[in-house]
Amino acid sequence: MDVETARGLPKVLLHDHLDGGLRPATILELADEVGYDGLPTTDLEALEAWFFQGRSGSLERYLEAFAHTVAVMQTPEALHRVAYEAGIDLHADGVVYAEVRFGPSLHTAGGLRREEVIEAVLAGFEDARRETGIELFTIVTALRHDTDSAAVVAAAAPFVDAGVVAFDLAGPEAGHPVDDHLPACLLARELGLGVTLHAGEGDGPRSIWQALAHGGAARIGHGVRIVEDTDFDGREIRRLGSLARRVRDHRVPLEVCLSSNLHTGVASTPEAHPLGALHRAGFVVTLNTDNRLMSGVTLSEEVTLAVETFGLDEADLGAFMVAALEAGFGPWPVRRRLRDEVVGPAYAS
Ligand SMILES: [Zn+2]
Repeated sequence: MDVETARGLPKVLLHDHLDGGLRPATILELADEVGYDGLPTTDLEALEAWFFQGRSGSLERYLEAFAHTVAVMQTPEALHRVAYEAGIDLHADGVVYAEVRFGPSLHTAGGLRREEVIEAVLAGFEDARRETGIELFTIVTALRHDTDSAAVVAAAAPFVDAGVVAFDLAGPEAGHPVDDHLPACLLARELGLGVTLHAGEGDGPRSIWQALAHGGAARIGHGVRIVEDTDFDGREIRRLGSLARRVRDHRVPLEVCLSSNLHTGVASTPEAHPLGALHRAGFVVTLNTDNRLMSGVTLSEEVTLAVETFGLDEADLGAFMVAALEAGFGPWPVRRRLRDEVVGPAYAS
């Protein structure tokens, strides 16, 4: 399968960071508008290359890249534009349903309140939806190493039935357990938000266990280190430990981000990544981009890489996309329509 073919297929995206998906040209224009002079270069091509070098695997460079994108996303106008363009870009890539996440607290340096940040992003998504028909929903993210997770959830409360569908924890996993954020997870569930937590990327099975057992996560961001609770010989999963069995048997969807995992060193080569083995062992796998700018990927490219690497066919891909729709946190009528009328038929034909 080539990228063009993949682009023509309707796709579903559950794990994509707003501040990791800006257009390089937009970064330059916004930096100019807000007077941000911290960019490593003001040459468009050089800037693009600089961001793509995030794949060199340097964590410092990776974090610096987010510092730049976040720096230019501090006004309602900038947030609206970035959100709108994310929707337009995802639509152009053949994405029909997406849940895009961002951390409201990161965008308050210019004086905005978290609620105003959320409002601006939702308005941008709404404009993209009106223009293209893409179904866009929002996940609010708090950072594990910060202490304001409950305030992040509280800020999302007015938007629970207006586009915000879930709560997420991101940031460094090791040393910053879900247990530090239980009030936020509880409040999210009380408000009726879905819970999906980054776990099993920077830390092992215990982190996944905590996300499920204590955080009440219905989905796991990444989650691929669940293979550490299995006998995985690098090709197939032979025997499952009790946690891995639970993740499989309770049908906990894993938001797998193949390219991102390669760039951050979770897997050394595509072939060494457990995606294919997890799928064959019966886990609920979905395909995701994580950070389109820093990883230099689109969902179509992720799909193509997964197909090439793991020998998937259209039925496998269709299963991933249907699983993603069924695992979504947006309104069921929307997801059911897409499943029955758009995604299902496209992969069956
Ligand atoms: Zn992520």
